[in-house]
Amino acid sequence: MARKKIIAGNWKMNMTPSEAVELINTLKPLVATEKADVVFCVPAIDIIPAMEAAKGSNIQIGAENMYFEEKGAYTGEISPAMLTDVGVKYVIIGHSERREYFAETDETVNKKVLKAFEHGITPIVCCGETLTQREQGVTIDFIRQQIKIAFLNVTADQAKTAVIAYEPIWAIGTGKTATSDQAQEVCSAIRACIGEIYDEATAEAIRIQYGGSVNASTAAELFAKPDIDGGLVGGAALKPDFGKIVNY
Ligand code: PEP
Repeated sequence: MARKKIIAGNWKMNMTPSEAVELINTLKPLVATEKADVVFCVPAIDIIPAMEAAKGSNIQIGAENMYFEEKGAYTGEISPAMLTDVGVKYVIIGHSERREYFAETDETVNKKVLKAFEHGITPIVCCGETLTQREQGVTIDFIRQQIKIAFLNVTADQAKTAVIAYEPIWAIGTGKTATSDQAQEVCSAIRACIGEIYDEATAEAIRIQYGGSVNASTAAELFAKPDIDGGLVGGAALKPDFGKIVNY
């Protein structure tokens, strides 16, 4: 069965709750399609007003992060039950900014992925190499390691429903998009790695996005590649351009 594309916006630390409502009202008509899943991953405080604003549209609201414990003394964190209580179905896990600025590791990513599945939330699991790793020719080895640890103890049935976002760090927020061939090479290696961990059926089912300076003029070529099932979009997700990306 053909995989349905999934185009997700990562708003990062942008948009107050009232700005969020305004942006969703602007984007709603521009992203209306049944052909792809459209997800806006927004700051925690924006989730409830964003859900309200998106009601009746095809936009699904996701979170940008989540903690791996159920509840308790973890000041400032958001629990999975807090997300499911308001209807969140997707959560970004292990974005490179969380790894760089908030000390997330492959091990904490794995704990969060397991916890998300336990609560029926689909994780968008991020991976991606630095420029040095690419220049040293260790990209595929590095990504395979990230994937293998992120999916430790995840069942095949769970993995089939997961989303992986391949986001080369050198391409995030830099305006430097990976070429479609570079992106396809890594996304295909990720699918092969999932096939090794699980089986062919799981590899065929899992959706793999590309992320890193995707814009209205690069989306079509990237998303046409056989192993790229859509995109995780940062900067361009805050603009009407996101409509063009969704309707690439
Ligand atoms: C991201 O943060 O996930 C991302 C891809 O950002 P940008 O599109 O701005 O490079």
